[in-house]
Amino acid sequence: MNLRLVLGDQCSRSLSALADLDPARDVVLMMEVDAECTYVRHHPQKITLVLSAMRHFARALTARGVRVDYVRLDDAGNTHNFTGEVARAMARHRPERIIVTEPGEWRVRQEIEGWEETLGLPVDIRDDTRFMADLATFRRWAHGKKQLRMEFFYREMRRATGLLMQGDKPEGGAWNYDAENRKPLARGVTPPASPRFEPDAITLEVMALVAARFPDHFGRLEGFNWPVTAQDAERALAAFIEERLPRFGDFQDAMAEGQATLFHALISTSLNAGLLLPREVCDAAEAAYRAGRVPLNAAEGFIRQVLGWREYVRGLYWLKMPAYKATNALDARRPLPDFYWTGKSGMRCMDAAIGQTRDMAYAHHIQRLMVTGNFALLAGIAPDAINEWYLLVYADAYEWVELPNTHGMAIHADGGIMASKPYAASGAYINRMSDHCGSCRHDVKAATGPRACPFNYLYWDFMARHATRFAANPRMAMPLATLRKMPPEKLAALRGEAVKFLDAVAPLA
Ligand SMILES: Cc1cc2nc3c(=O)[nH]c(=O)nc-3n(C[C@H](O)[C@H](O)[C@H](O)COP(=O)(O)OP(=O)(O)OC[C@H]3O[C@@H](n4cnc5c(N)ncnc54)[C@H](O)[C@@H]3O)c2cc1C
Ligand code: SF4
Repeated sequence: MNLRLVLGDQCSRSLSALADLDPARDVVLMMEVDAECTYVRHHPQKITLVLSAMRHFARALTARGVRVDYVRLDDAGNTHNFTGEVARAMARHRPERIIVTEPGEWRVRQEIEGWEETLGLPVDIRDDTRFMADLATFRRWAHGKKQLRMEFFYREMRRATGLLMQGDKPEGGAWNYDAENRKPLARGVTPPASPRFEPDAITLEVMALVAARFPDHFGRLEGFNWPVTAQDAERALAAFIEERLPRFGDFQDAMAEGQATLFHALISTSLNAGLLLPREVCDAAEAAYRAGRVPLNAAEGFIRQVLGWREYVRGLYWLKMPAYKATNALDARRPLPDFYWTGKSGMRCMDAAIGQTRDMAYAHHIQRLMVTGNFALLAGIAPDAINEWYLLVYADAYEWVELPNTHGMAIHADGGIMASKPYAASGAYINRMSDHCGSCRHDVKAATGPRACPFNYLYWDFMARHATRFAANPRMAMPLATLRKMPPEKLAALRGEAVKFLDAVAPLA
């Protein structure tokens, strides 16, 4: 018999580890272990989501006549790590072989690759066919390229999948409609409420377990509202396509007071846990466009996120790990300020993003990139500290997707492998894309003085710190030219404010 493993983010019927399963002989092993909940102290909503999705998936497999050996977190004898649980399951079932779909994270893959030797059994590690680009395809695309720009990978993926194509040309004549997707939320536009997913008995039981077992993890568990089954995830997708996708493109980069989700899809938790497949999500968006229900800039903008960014970051992660995680191109060394946990920075934009992160385990892309990420970039927060924060606080966080987004896109620690320039912005960007500044105690127009917006002086301090490094980068020419023209006493005043602020909130050891 085969012992087939289904890991927490592999709750998909089409999982490669379950292909050719023989219900009469094989056993599916699913393991809840402390090690996976605490290697970073995950948000209680993320732990609840994964454990509840696993329990629902195990129930569905059992209903189909599959033999499932399910180890619960509070089972007596649980060794609380994968290797220990596989060894115990081997003693129970005496399998001839272990079959598993490649895991999403480097550290788990390392562990599994050791099993043939440590457990003395053949281990069949299968490709994760849920993604649209396999890792070999990405490696071939990346081979010999100096720069790995997402946009070119995305075009290859459009051609390969036929999504939004007219023959060999992109639908509408352009590959990318991003220029149309940068509007602040217009007055009088109210985003529709996202659907409710009331916790059922299984989820309530998991919530009680998580609350009791991980009481000191950051984040609120009450209000948990994530899909934990494929059916609920499909309902979430359908609601998004009907109600929010038509305006997703327009307001993709917007931020607004009291609006945590705007026109975003809220499907990353489902995609990453395997409850939705990326291809079905892209097909649904394309079908809505072809039926005339959503404009092209919305459908393209959305498909680019899933077919482009999501597949690209996975390819990059596996291409560059483990060295990727250790890079620190900007020599960032400051500790994480306390307000990333308390949400009490006095900066309205930061506190809004951190507050909703605590309450929902969610912030949308621009909040992650241009608020909390931008602050960390400008302040020079050490990559390990900020990477850990992002991996810990979001319900959709798995290292394969979190690390490139944080390390590469937000804080430029990879030195430009992922992004051609750092996503550094002053308060003016946040003011243009949001209404936060109106209710902030800081003055977004001021760069020095007691009410100055910290993003302003931190921005110029960042530019001055790294002017030599970015001197040859044409995409940095404009800010560096402004920096050069700045009177020395003005720059000194800005830098003085920056150092005073940073030494107060994130003092160097
Ligand atoms: C610093 C930082 C950390 C991030 N960490 C994570 C993470 O841990 N897990 C995660 O899934 N996403 C992460 N992202 C990407 C993105 O912010 C989230 O995927 C998105 O906010 C999820 O919300 P949504 O489903 O409403 O997405 P939407 O904005 O509606 O987008 C639709 C889908 O596109 C995909 N997508 C969009 N942007 C990206 C991207 N840059 N990379 C990969 N997929 C993308 C997601 O699957 C998302 O569900 C991070 C981004 C940044 C800047
Ligand atoms: S003034 Fe500055 S700190 Fe305050 S909300 Fe605006 S950008 Fe953020």
